[in-house]
Amino acid sequence: MQSAKIRSADVVVIGGGITGKACALGLAQLGLNTIEIAPDLSQMAPAPQGSQWGQRIYAFSPSTQKLLAHLQIWDALDHSRLQPVRDMQIYGDRGERNDQLHLSAFEAGTPQLAWIGESNLIEYTLDQASRFQNKLERISDVLDKIEVDANGATLYLQNGNAIHAQLVVAADGANSPIRSAIGITVSLENYSQSAVVANWTCTYPHLETAFQWFLPGGDIVAMLPLPNKQVSMVWSTSPEHAADLLKLDQAQWQEQFRLIANGAVEKQLGELNLNSTPAAFPLKKVRAKRFIGPESAPKVVLIGDAAHVMHPLAGQGLNLGLRDVAVLLNILSKRESFRSLSDVVLLRRYERQRQGDTSALLWVTDKLKKLFSASGNPERQLRNWGLGLVNKSHFIKQRLIERALGDIDFE
Ligand SMILES: Cc1cc2nc3c(=O)[nH]c(=O)nc-3n(C[C@H](O)[C@H](O)[C@H](O)COP(=O)(O)OP(=O)(O)OC[C@H]3O[C@@H](n4cnc5c(N)ncnc54)[C@H](O)[C@@H]3O)c2cc1C
Repeated sequence: MQSAKIRSADVVVIGGGITGKACALGLAQLGLNTIEIAPDLSQMAPAPQGSQWGQRIYAFSPSTQKLLAHLQIWDALDHSRLQPVRDMQIYGDRGERNDQLHLSAFEAGTPQLAWIGESNLIEYTLDQASRFQNKLERISDVLDKIEVDANGATLYLQNGNAIHAQLVVAADGANSPIRSAIGITVSLENYSQSAVVANWTCTYPHLETAFQWFLPGGDIVAMLPLPNKQVSMVWSTSPEHAADLLKLDQAQWQEQFRLIANGAVEKQLGELNLNSTPAAFPLKKVRAKRFIGPESAPKVVLIGDAAHVMHPLAGQGLNLGLRDVAVLLNILSKRESFRSLSDVVLLRRYERQRQGDTSALLWVTDKLKKLFSASGNPERQLRNWGLGLVNKSHFIKQRLIERALGDIDFE
């Protein structure tokens, strides 16, 4: 390993998810010699097309739209595959009108609350833009080992190559090998829930509305609008129930939907027909204790799921990760000329700026998940009463929407 020929770069980004791809492109656009490393970078994401929508569907917040526009990606997306969300309807577990929270783009004074689209749509366009970015090199490989020194870090790859960089960006996901290697610990909570995702065509128009039902046993069912009278389902439930749901046929799914909040799904969306292969994802909450490291001489920053993972009930995990990217790009682009890319002052600036947003979103999603999982009568009354109360307060709704929209600035 030690005899490997060592190349150099300004920054190395480890990870080929959306946060890694967006960060690597943004760093290269700043004029920094950037190398991105992930096992699957030799293949471009396929262009999404046809009536079959991809399995991974996300809600993209306005802060994500702003970052993608800054990277010259937003206008290049196929907008016929993006569905703006103008309304959100959230129902308590009694399914009564009083236990309902309605968030509206009109009330919030914004054209839309979010967009729903495929992961592949973003990845495909990021891949296309990266091909033409001459400051960005992509290497399809796996990181084996990282050694931090006074000037940066050396990354040893499985194919035997090694790269030295002033700064390393760890976008290597929830189990981040870099995070462990540099000794950053996490607080971790397994939710004992899995999210079952699937796409459906519906017979009634979804009216550009995202629906979410909190059910009595702690299950949460979201139906997110997609173009062409389709919806994307995210059903958070026990791992056992998730395994059962994956085996259902079309008729059995209809039965399941009839059981949700007295048939509310069918009343809103009509008959649903399966349009994808359902898949399940285990759910957990993770927060890295530090977003930079190692402690003695930080040369690494954590972004995306490497830094934080949350319950998908608010559809915010990726949006939060892309705000990490936006803040990092901002700090590096405005750095004083005498500071190196891994100057501890810059990295601490990054960490400080990301702590508040991360803590607030992790706290809210965690508390909502727990409040709606509690089976005692006081909790049930509190949450149903709370939804109705929030619904009557324009002020609280406005704050909730501001948090969901996210805020980033490019100067
Ligand atoms: C059911 C569900 C629904 C969700 N819905 C939403 C939503 O609507 N909106 C939203 O904002 N978020 C949502 N999320 C969250 C979102 O999926 C994640 O936050 C996001 O995908 C994380 O992206 P990432 O790039 O940080 O990590 P990942 O996508 O996990 O990427 C990690 C990358 O690191 C690479 N890697 C790992 N180890 C190494 C190594 N040793 N060497 C090199 N490369 C390595 C991997 O190959 C991969 O390319 C949802 C999550 C779930 C489970």
